[in-house]
Amino acid sequence: MEKDVLVKIVESCLSIDQSSAEVYGALQESFADHPLRSFWQNMKEEEETHVAFWSELLELVKEGHIPQFFDRPHVFAEELEELAQKATGQVAQAALANSVDAAFLIAYKMEFYMLHPAFEALFHYASGLPLTSALQNPDNDYEQHLGHFIAAFSKYGGESAEMVVLGSVLNSLWLRNRELAIQAHRDPLTGLLNRRGFMMTVRPIGFVARRRGEDVGTIILDVDLFKQLNDQFGHQVGDKVLQGLSKRLTEALRGSDVLGRHGGEEFVAFCYPVDPASFHALCEKVREAISATPIAGQEVKVSIGGATGTIGDDVEGCLEALLKEADECLYEAKAAGRNRSIVRLLN
Ligand code: GH3
Ligand code: MG
Ligand code: MG
Repeated sequence: MEKDVLVKIVESCLSIDQSSAEVYGALQESFADHPLRSFWQNMKEEEETHVAFWSELLELVKEGHIPQFFDRPHVFAEELEELAQKATGQVAQAALANSVDAAFLIAYKMEFYMLHPAFEALFHYASGLPLTSALQNPDNDYEQHLGHFIAAFSKYGGESAEMVVLGSVLNSLWLRNRELAIQAHRDPLTGLLNRRGFMMTVRPIGFVARRRGEDVGTIILDVDLFKQLNDQFGHQVGDKVLQGLSKRLTEALRGSDVLGRHGGEEFVAFCYPVDPASFHALCEKVREAISATPIAGQEVKVSIGGATGTIGDDVEGCLEALLKEADECLYEAKAAGRNRSIVRLLN
């Protein structure tokens, strides 16, 4: 049977990071008495945490817990396989590097391979997963890793004009990659995940929850009488309230919960794991956290609909059903007079 395309993609990512760890290990040895030694060592250690992350992700993918989500998976698989071969080739080169420029050029190539959009997409996709490997937030962690590299590159590698150019290219490519990923997945006003980013983040967690048979919860929250606030104080004040509200919500939820803006003055959250018996209390806690003190100078009240349950074989269908149920509960909360939360237990 042909190997699953997502398995191929993740295997190549793992292979590229493995080669990177070896490259940085070799550079660390070549620079025994150089101030750059500890830098290469650091880079090597960071790559090792990436390797642990990819290994864990690969297991999940092999077991079929992560759905294929790339638009052009076969193109990506081929491109990454080629990059993985190139990365392997750099390991031998690293052992021969005898100048700062030569070393940075190799490291530059390694970091450049990891700018392939598959990396950003998978890091982003996995950043909500409850993984046990040291890399708790792959997205941020990789950004830091590259940040360390670019900083050292401009500090030590900036002696030749060629190096200066390479450093700035890498920097701008990374920023552009980030920018595109952010535009596609985040809401510009609040910085929260948009609908697409939310679903993309939640889906793989749904697969993990199904495997573990643990309960999840969905929350849909809508600001009460927000139109009045806009009409009375203006749209700009309304925007400030939405920004403040997203901050308040982030604080009220756990770091492992996923929060998104569903559009307008409606927010959505996915909580995992949850205890169904205390899910209503959780929603009430969120609601009270919002109304406890003014946001952007305004008294803000919200209505909340919630649904909780386990995830069955059809992960997507179950997530949809939980969101739909939460939406219906929200509607009931509005009809019952607002400023309250209603939750239901599914299955
Ligand atoms: P209800 O309690 O029934 O939810 O009443 P409501 O007034 O909150 O609901 P309605 O759907 O009538 O109005 C929602 C308002 O939210 C109308 C729209 O102008 C405003 N809104 C949506 N998106 C934004 C935004 O990005 N910024 C601002 N300032 N207002 C927004
Ligand atoms: Mg509203
Ligand atoms: Mg609304």
